Amino acid sequence: MNKQILKELRAILGKDSLLTAWEERACCSYDATGQSFLPDAVALPETTEQIAALVRLANEYRFPVIPRGAGSGATGGALPVKGGLVISFNRMRRILEIDTANMIAVVEPGLVTGELQAALKQHGLMYPPDPASLKFCSLGGNAAECAGGPSAVKYGVTRDYIIGLEAVLATGEIIKTGVRTEKGVVGYDLTRLLIGSEGTLALFTKLILRLLPLPAAKSTFLLSFSSLAEATKLVAEILSAGLLPCTLEYMDRTAIAAVRSRLSSPPAEDVAALLLVEFDGSTDEVAQQSKQFTAFVEQKNNCSLRQAANEEETTELWQARRSISPAVLSLRPHKIAEDVVVPRSNIPDLVAFLERLADELQLLILSFGHAGDGNIHVNIMLDKSNKEEHQRGLQAKERLFRFVLSLGGTLSGEHGIGITKAAFLPLEINPPTLELMWRLKQLFDPNGILNPGKVFPDLPVT
Ligand SMILES: Cc1cc2nc3c(=O)[nH]c(=O)nc-3n(C[C@H](O)[C@H](O)[C@H](O)COP(=O)(O)OP(=O)(O)OC[C@H]3O[C@@H](n4cnc5c(N)ncnc54)[C@H](O)[C@@H]3O)c2cc1C
Repeated sequence: MNKQILKELRAILGKDSLLTAWEERACCSYDATGQSFLPDAVALPETTEQIAALVRLANEYRFPVIPRGAGSGATGGALPVKGGLVISFNRMRRILEIDTANMIAVVEPGLVTGELQAALKQHGLMYPPDPASLKFCSLGGNAAECAGGPSAVKYGVTRDYIIGLEAVLATGEIIKTGVRTEKGVVGYDLTRLLIGSEGTLALFTKLILRLLPLPAAKSTFLLSFSSLAEATKLVAEILSAGLLPCTLEYMDRTAIAAVRSRLSSPPAEDVAALLLVEFDGSTDEVAQQSKQFTAFVEQKNNCSLRQAANEEETTELWQARRSISPAVLSLRPHKIAEDVVVPRSNIPDLVAFLERLADELQLLILSFGHAGDGNIHVNIMLDKSNKEEHQRGLQAKERLFRFVLSLGGTLSGEHGIGITKAAFLPLEINPPTLELMWRLKQLFDPNGILNPGKVFPDLPVT
């Protein structure tokens, strides 16, 4: 990035909002993949108009623009793999409006998801998407990845709650998509196209969110199994029995081992799998569902059931679940972390496959996650400095993807494609469909300045 460009960027932002020192750029060089690429500069805009001016300049001089929320992405979406300007949304994190009568909120994209949820609680409202990273990830990043969380089994994912957007195109034009009403079918649904586009089509500058009333009650259960197959088989059976939990999460034996030291009352050593199950709703609904669920589990007679007695116990169970992702690194220094989805009745096939794969390739492979919607986090643990082991890990990743697709599943439920899965996109998406996606990309971004190197395959697998 030459001096002239830096001068023009400073003129748009003011001198305190353009970072060029090595240590400042390094702070925006990484994400949860553990990979790192240094940007040429980092912009900290405060308005949509500044972002429009930055992107216009990028389009004129043809330098890459990389939108960045909190940098917690798991597939490299916020990494400046080709250098360029990182646009950080760190200074755009206001709640602009909470409309309680119409149950919507308007927010800036840098707002942390958990902060919005805490603010809505005061109004008796909720924004359901609850990624495990909610204490630090941003709503803009959630929108760009279409984040999900445990509550997706009952409430759905980010795209079900974003009803409108303000966004800046690669040309610097500002568009407004969607509605702020319950219904609306005017024109093409650009909101849905942009959600999950991983910063490759536009930069979101405002989000209009649909809200729900906060449920009055919740009950939390922990089921311990001596067989992983039994635990995963029960998942589809719970939902077929007419029960609708708002959480249906599982952890296998190795995932339990990784969080064991964080639990004040850890499960017995012979426990092979845990299911975390919650019901929410009105007090009556929760009491009725909990009773039905307890009877259902007792009749199955293949696990031990514990109900959280109080808020403290519930928090502890959740702490274990939410900390698995970083905790697994106590087992091995690196991981290949995937978030595949299979039809939930096929989860037992997937976990059996993982056991065979681990055995065959002599790797430590663990799984946990959103069993209720079939979105399973598979972590292939390894030490990347051991080249031969890393190769086996990559082999396991490809075999996992092929198996998941053979079950009618999909490569990613919530983490997106980024750089880590881009090479595998053609496994799932047929050539005419991929070609149409590429033509859309070119239409939105003719000069390829928006988050280049992401989603479409042109980088080596990592
Ligand atoms: C411990 C841990 C647990 C996690 N658990 C979950 C989980 O349960 N569910 C889940 O879905 N994910 C989870 N993730 C992954 C991650 O938190 C999500 O993908 C999250 O949505 C990323 O948000 P972010 O603000 O960190 O985005 P970033 O990592 O900064 O960016 C992610 C993508 O969004 C784009 N982007 C960011 N802001 C904008 C914007 N304003 N306009 C356009 N594009 C933008 C970036 O360019 C990039 O492509 C987890 C991550 C960690 C580290």
